[in-house]
Amino acid sequence: MSEKREYPRTKEGSAISKIVIDRDLCISAISCIAVSDATFQLDEESKVVAIDPNAADDATLMAAAESCPTKAILLFDTTGKQVFPV
Ligand code: SF4
Repeated sequence: MSEKREYPRTKEGSAISKIVIDRDLCISAISCIAVSDATFQLDEESKVVAIDPNAADDATLMAAAESCPTKAILLFDTTGKQVFPV
């Protein structure tokens, strides 16, 4: 079973209410960090964690998720629907 970590988002006006990182898929490519280092950092296992889920706006967050070569970053809207990857 894959290890997924959930990061709820409480950013006002945001349509993205949750970030999920599939740690098994993360290959430390760090493209997500290049897009938003305020949101994502590598931990001691060289897997990405969301250090501040509210740091980025929705477009930046989507760009970070889209930049991930293994689609390890999943985004959910306020209804709980997965909006990336779809
Ligand atoms: S871009 Fe994807 S694989 Fe690379 S560090 Fe971020 S989550 Fe991990």
